[in-house]
Amino acid sequence: KSNRREPFHRFDAGKCTTTLLAIFEALIPPADEEKRRKQLLTSLDELVSGIWSEARLFLFGSCANAFGVCNSDIDVCLSIEGESATRSEVVCTLAEALKANHMQNVQALTHARVPIVKYSDPKTGISCDVCVNNMLAVVNTKLLHDYAQIDVRLRQLAFIVKHWAKCRQVNETYRGTLSSYAYVLMCIHFLQQRRPPVLPCLQEMEPTYRVTVGDIDCAYFDKVDNLKGFGQQNKETLADLVWSFFDYWAFRHDYTHTVISIRTGKYLSKVEKDWTRRIGNECHLICIEDPFEVSHDLGRVVDKHSIRVLRDEFRRAARIMQQEVNPCPALFEPY
Ligand code: ATP
Ligand code: MG
Repeated sequence: KSNRREPFHRFDAGKCTTTLLAIFEALIPPADEEKRRKQLLTSLDELVSGIWSEARLFLFGSCANAFGVCNSDIDVCLSIEGESATRSEVVCTLAEALKANHMQNVQALTHARVPIVKYSDPKTGISCDVCVNNMLAVVNTKLLHDYAQIDVRLRQLAFIVKHWAKCRQVNETYRGTLSSYAYVLMCIHFLQQRRPPVLPCLQEMEPTYRVTVGDIDCAYFDKVDNLKGFGQQNKETLADLVWSFFDYWAFRHDYTHTVISIRTGKYLSKVEKDWTRRIGNECHLICIEDPFEVSHDLGRVVDKHSIRVLRDEFRRAARIMQQEVNPCPALFEPY
């Protein structure tokens, strides 16, 4: 095919990596952001404890998974055991209490797949999404965080990919493109596939961590301190990896037949997952298996239109990495 890449690129791997690392560093949240988050969490904790004595709060998503850029919203899970009210009712009660407590822009989204309350805290200026009893999100946050401890290149690559996706407007699930969570899974899978590998497959190793959430058994090797240096045999620079990542999703991935799975560290077939046809709104045009909720395809939000947008953007990024001496300005050019 004419759009297959030639085996060379024009950028200098050292120079391009330096530029990419500067972008990465600039995206890391400053230390005071952590402080403001703790402040918000403390006051939210006081509020919910006054309503539900058994309530506990957990952070999840990018504020806890090591893949958060500066100024991102925080995601909180409110866990109440033995609560008889539905999640929507809890969300409504919480929304009223937040309003009474002078929080701003309080919105209860009770009809979403996962009901949430959104609000912003005037004291810290931080926006927050609170969901109820969504412990699977807390566990997958820990998994992502643990992967990030093994090789720094994962965090660097994922920041760059997330930043690219935001600049190019392909990080909008309500418009049929992929969530940040999906992009991080794509990065983990990609680094598991490098030869030599940059990341192991933690769920294929002897479990040292195990929790059950509903009927899902979540188990994996979480003693990641013992795995520091795992990727050392692989000498690829960040620039090499960014280039190969886009090249993979532009020209090499088999969208028709395969599913990526960080759970197995392999490719699975769409046939074995029964993801070969459209069911309702779920199209399975790009298939990314959730590591714990294995019947869940993170690509299911992508439809006939948005798959074209997404693949065009992968090809654009791959061509820029291929052709430009200094690829960064064009790569992150706002859409
Ligand atoms: P951002 O920096 O864009 O806010 P984020 O890491 O918070 O990134 P989101 O996509 O907002 O990413 O997801 C927040 C968390 O919610 C994820 O870390 C994950 O735990 C959970 N999550 C999000 N989407 C899904 C999904 N489709 N299925 C299961 N869990 C999900
Ligand atoms: Mg988030």
